[in-house]
Amino acid sequence: MQVPAQVEYEKAASVEHALALLDRYGPAARVLAGGHSLIPMMKLRLAQPETLVDINGLTELAYLRAADGELRIGALTRHAELLGSAAAGAHFAILHDAERVIADPVVRNWGTIGGSLCQADPSEDLSAAFAALKATMVIRGPDGTRTVPAREFHTAPYETVVAPGELLTEIRIPIRPGGGSAYEKVGRRVGDWPVGAAGVAIWLAGDTITDAGIGLTAVGARHFAAAEAEDFLRGAAASEENFARAGEIAAEHCRPVSDQRGPAAYKRHLAAELTARALRRAAGRARGEVT
Ligand SMILES: Cc1cc2nc3c(=O)[nH]c(=O)nc-3n(C[C@H](O)[C@H](O)[C@H](O)COP(=O)(O)OP(=O)(O)OC[C@H]3O[C@@H](n4cnc5c(N)ncnc54)[C@H](O)[C@@H]3O)c2cc1C
Repeated sequence: MQVPAQVEYEKAASVEHALALLDRYGPAARVLAGGHSLIPMMKLRLAQPETLVDINGLTELAYLRAADGELRIGALTRHAELLGSAAAGAHFAILHDAERVIADPVVRNWGTIGGSLCQADPSEDLSAAFAALKATMVIRGPDGTRTVPAREFHTAPYETVVAPGELLTEIRIPIRPGGGSAYEKVGRRVGDWPVGAAGVAIWLAGDTITDAGIGLTAVGARHFAAAEAEDFLRGAAASEENFARAGEIAAEHCRPVSDQRGPAAYKRHLAAELTARALRRAAGRARGEVT
């Protein structure tokens, strides 16, 4: 039986209280959100925090709001709430595409958006979606609030810019009219982590691409993004040929590794194919087609 080491437990009553607790217990304290990643890691002794600061009571961090040209997602929002949000789906179909294929209902019902991002697994789905959407992360700490672009949030596998003593509190996504978005994933089985996945947001003027965001996960993409493929698409025609070429460029700049989910060459192939598929579907949505 896997049993975590002895740990102290504190339940935060507000964001300020959580920050005070993190300050009091120092770097050996860890935030507990849904616990779907942290608790298994504690059972395996891969994480051995001395104190857990439980933020599940912080309803002030559980919200989805579309206002003032932004979708704002509180860090304690559950995956299931994001999947169930009509506002999120209406503005960003990519988020519903991604949430439909993240884990299973048990994980989605309690796992949080903030926990997923802070876990910073290199195969995490929403990191690619938020990279595509050029989201901004809001972080609160003892010295106040700071914002970080999604593409600067992860510093290494399982590492982020969120320092001990800080909390990720919100994700902000700019709402820009006229766009379309989509997420394409290949996993070994339903509810599994991706072997590879691509998310796309695209904006068109007639048949010309005015802007594009491409996120990739599980394939060793720098900052979960395909910046070179985005550069290629900006100003190009929204054509099958260009979508395929953008996929090739995205794949060329990945650094996938062979592991139990598949060989590196297959993951590189997925990066190309899934980018092209997501571009096709996102462009269809931008044109108002039902896809
Ligand atoms: C069976 C299973 C299948 C899964 N499949 C997928 C999948 O297909 N795709 C995918 O992307 N993910 C998948 N996951 C991951 C799942 O989405 C995450 O485990 C979960 O959502 C993490 O969120 P949590 O709220 O449980 O975080 P926790 O486990 O509570 O926390 C994770 C880490 O983040 C820190 N943390 C949490 N919230 C904050 C915060 N607000 N500020 C600062 N630090 C914070 C914690 O201290 C901890 O280090 C799967 C997980 C399981 C168990």
